[in-house]
Amino acid sequence: MTATRVLVLNSGSSSVKYQLLEMADGSRLAAGIVERIGEKQSRISHSPLASGGERRERAEEFANHEAALRAVSRELETDGYGLEDPRLAAIGHRVVHGGQAFTRPTLVDDAVLAEIERLIPLAPLHNPANLEGITTARTLNPRVPQVAVFDTAFHTTMPEHAARYALDAATADEHRVRRYGFHGTSHAYVSRKAAELLGKDPSEANVIVLHLGNGASASAVRAGRCVDTSMGLTPLEGLVMGTRSGDVDPAVVFHLVRVAGMSVDGVDELLNKRSGLMGLCGDNDMREIHRRVEEGDEAAKLAFDVYVHRLKKYIGAYCAVLGRVDAVAFTAGVGENSAPVRRAALEGMEGLGLRLDDARNEARPQGPDSGKPRLISPEGARVAVAVVPTDEELEIAQQTYALVSEEGPGARR
Ligand code: AMP
Repeated sequence: MTATRVLVLNSGSSSVKYQLLEMADGSRLAAGIVERIGEKQSRISHSPLASGGERRERAEEFANHEAALRAVSRELETDGYGLEDPRLAAIGHRVVHGGQAFTRPTLVDDAVLAEIERLIPLAPLHNPANLEGITTARTLNPRVPQVAVFDTAFHTTMPEHAARYALDAATADEHRVRRYGFHGTSHAYVSRKAAELLGKDPSEANVIVLHLGNGASASAVRAGRCVDTSMGLTPLEGLVMGTRSGDVDPAVVFHLVRVAGMSVDGVDELLNKRSGLMGLCGDNDMREIHRRVEEGDEAAKLAFDVYVHRLKKYIGAYCAVLGRVDAVAFTAGVGENSAPVRRAALEGMEGLGLRLDDARNEARPQGPDSGKPRLISPEGARVAVAVVPTDEELEIAQQTYALVSEEGPGARR
């Protein structure tokens, strides 16, 4: 029996999201989430997608990731899959920080686990949970290959002049302070899909990817390789986000500590959780901001304008970095759904070849077309502007499957 299925696991500190994919046709067999792991009211929600069956939801106390993954395995077994299924080729894990060491998806062994652990100081909220997901999955089925797919990997091609901060070199090197970038799986997938939409090989296309979700980042991709991205040492740098400030003068931190008497942890929490759209107007959901702007709400209008102004600056900067731009691709919750953000971000940029077709920008494709990449620039525009729905799970599954197929039967059962 050929093993052609991949289970994708995204283990957070208190949740595990999962999808089981059939790689023969890229279809989704099942998907679900375990939430509030470690709390009394934890719950699992499972959708048996292949059979079109009803979603099953259950509250149960899952004390840790192992209990959560055992529950996932049981749900999958109910649908006839399970972690022991010989059709399972591999488990692909999202890992947030791969540092400089991990430039590609990597087959997990003890040395790989040790290196992911060594990177914990760079991603203290994410890497421990990612590690726990991997070690638990390994315990539940030691025979199936586990593959780590890193959020930072796509950005490891950045040239040194884009990855370096202009800091004292010895201090920066000692503490691994440099620009790593995040959302790499999405930037890789979307830049490739944008090239495909233009009928080009990724190696022939220069693309600016704007991943605008609750977290947001931009990247400049030349010939399929990332040459710059807006997130840095952590996912705080760059664009204005739902609750994160993005770029600020670093001296804001000293000022708040010295003058406002805040603690370093307090400033960390301010910049990550109480800033961005939320900090400016009290809402982090762009839909709500659009509604309030319609009603003439000044704070919401300012939040929208600050968000768009920063976005424009990054688009301009990446036009300069790339020299020639073939496509600008909008993706993630805001990028895929907000026509007003796309319009405002590109307004007045005709001089750079950036134009929108208003009807295409406003269109909301339904049914099977809704998930497909589409052009929103006019026919014959110098730079193509596109909406490209991201699919990080599919990308993780494809990278995982490609790796175990490459590694041969030793890796693949
Ligand atoms: P993500 O992190 O990619 O799931 O994106 C989540 C964000 O997308 C939400 O917080 C909303 O701000 C935004 N979003 C989702 N749907 C819409 C929509 N129809 N219009 C504007 N923004 C949207």
